[in-house]
Amino acid sequence: MSVIKSKPDLSLKSDELGLNPVELSPNLSLATSKPSNRIIVDSGASEHYSPNKDWFIDYKEVKNKSIIVANGQRIPIRGIGNIPIIGDNRELLITNVNYIPEIKTTLLSPRELAKKGWKTLFKGQIGSVIHPSLKISLKATWDYNAYYLDFKIDSKVLCLSQAPETSESCDVQGQNSKVLDLYHKRLNHISKEFLIKTLSQLNLADLSPKSANSANLRNCDSCYKGKFTRVISREPLKSTSEALAIIDCDIAGPFRTRGYLGERYFITLTDRASRAI
Ligand SMILES: [Zn+2]
Repeated sequence: MSVIKSKPDLSLKSDELGLNPVELSPNLSLATSKPSNRIIVDSGASEHYSPNKDWFIDYKEVKNKSIIVANGQRIPIRGIGNIPIIGDNRELLITNVNYIPEIKTTLLSPRELAKKGWKTLFKGQIGSVIHPSLKISLKATWDYNAYYLDFKIDSKVLCLSQAPETSESCDVQGQNSKVLDLYHKRLNHISKEFLIKTLSQLNLADLSPKSANSANLRNCDSCYKGKFTRVISREPLKSTSEALAIIDCDIAGPFRTRGYLGERYFITLTDRASRAI
């Protein structure tokens, strides 16, 4: 972890050479429901791990890296990034967190923290994560099975990283987009331009034309699907000189006039080399 104000230290990337050392922390078990919003300070974890992708900033995809969880299953690490938090009234950044959607809870590795000068102490029900020279002390409380860190996600930093071009606050922005999305769906998926034109006639309480303009229509699956087009190949068929190597099959029908036995279709099987049907 590093303090944001004093430039986070991103240089200490642990082994970038493919596979990770074997990981056998009991907390690294697979998620059965949605990820938890807590952070466990886990002395068994060799690195930081998180299933909460929406916490990440500076996220990068990772390939060919995996860990082994408690039941022996190998699970791929999907990406790496940093998580901004507020702890002890300071803005902090947990750096080099591995994104693994399959795990239950975010795990903070004391071993990884120690590389940045942090000390982790566990005493009874209370754990402390301390940076002596920066005079920061984070608390972790024992709850049933683990030490849970006392923190808040730094949504301000998260916001800025996700929408750097907007000056409005993230929540307002998100809210406007939500309303805009809703009208987009209600009005038969019209484009943003027409949507704003329409809304400007209506004088809505929940969305002014100005805020609609700054809001974004977010990825609408139905619209994407509607824009899919069929790709037709204009390439001539590959020819062959070998008889019966390629057989083309065509179906014709349904015909309005039925055959003697009620048939409505026929198929042709054509040998491409000899053109024999
Ligand atoms: Zn749509």
